[in-house]
Amino acid sequence: MRVYLDNNATTIVDPHVFEEMEPFFVQKYGNPNSLHSFASETHQPLKTAMEKIYAGIHAPREDSVVITSCATESNNWVLKSIYFQYILTGRKNHIIVSEVEHPSVIATAKFIESQGCRVTYLPINHEGLIDAQSVRDYITDKTALVSIMTANNETGGIFPVQEIGEICKEHNVLFHTDAVQAIGKIPVDVQSFNVDYLTFSAHKFHGPKGVGGLYIKKGRELLPLLHGGSQMGGLRSGTLNVAGIVGMGKAMEQAVDALDYEMTDIKEMRDAFEDELLKIKDTFVVTPREKRTPNTTLISFRGIEGEAMLWDLNCAGVAASTGSACASEDLESNPVMEAIGADADLAHTAIRFSLSRYTTQEELDYTLEVVKKAVKRLREISSSYAYAPDGHDSKL
Ligand code: PLP
Repeated sequence: MRVYLDNNATTIVDPHVFEEMEPFFVQKYGNPNSLHSFASETHQPLKTAMEKIYAGIHAPREDSVVITSCATESNNWVLKSIYFQYILTGRKNHIIVSEVEHPSVIATAKFIESQGCRVTYLPINHEGLIDAQSVRDYITDKTALVSIMTANNETGGIFPVQEIGEICKEHNVLFHTDAVQAIGKIPVDVQSFNVDYLTFSAHKFHGPKGVGGLYIKKGRELLPLLHGGSQMGGLRSGTLNVAGIVGMGKAMEQAVDALDYEMTDIKEMRDAFEDELLKIKDTFVVTPREKRTPNTTLISFRGIEGEAMLWDLNCAGVAASTGSACASEDLESNPVMEAIGADADLAHTAIRFSLSRYTTQEELDYTLEVVKKAVKRLREISSSYAYAPDGHDSKL
């Protein structure tokens, strides 16, 4: 049996999404910017897809949604443009990001920091969450931007974006949220979130890879990262990824339709699965369930290297993760567990199981059996577990 429980890394393309995309490879392959019928037959499908995307995030018509190649691009774009518009010009000198943002935010923040911007890396609390009021403590009259994700990719922890958005508004500071892990899992509404910018990526909600977007509130325009064309109003040059945009539109529509199922049925399945995992001795979950996306469990198995566990799971056909999708080849501990202040043993032993609306009960039952066998085998050969004192209490 093969079981895919790495849906925070990427998801299966929904067959209906694939079906809608298919004509745009071999039949309707025109460049939308050309002046002939091959081009014009892409116009209505693109318009329909954009309408679905606007509706999915509750974006008013007067605001912009700019299509990008991925969330990494959207995140880079916001931070770099703010750097050019506010920091380099001397109008402001500071931005705030959480210390557990995706590397596409953290690495970009570090880059602009190297160019002279002051960056605050906002700490998370013992539950792996952000305290909205702490944002207030760090804002100064020189703060240009706050960038805090809607939900964390590792723990599934939901951050209080609405409240952070209000604080930013109060202080006249721009607010960006990376909502990549939120679309299709919790309601996403750019208006109630009080955001100026919001990032999303199709492949995290059963759409294709290589297409994402950035919501931009009216009046908060950014400088383009890519120059050279008139696409997306000149904000993002490059021939449109027609199939990708059509696919993302369909995927967004379906994500909204399936939201209730995710928030009830998938959550129930996740909770029951987690209950069973927690019955295994010396296992720990940090972020409370009610403050997490419905599909994610990040669990530590004391005494077992995450990579060793992944190996055993993979041999049995089960796909999970030890850290950020992009970093799973590095033998590093889980960045969120480190940020929480978990001891090295726990930070190295965290495994992320992320479900989707395609996950079945049978798959979870099979995974439980596989995990139990792996825990037994790996603890038997684990020097750190053998040498640990009896009754290993949580050191978190
Ligand atoms: N932001 C978050 C929270 C993510 O989880 C990811 C992917 O893991 C990204 C951004 C990057 O997404 P993309 O693959 O579209 O660049």
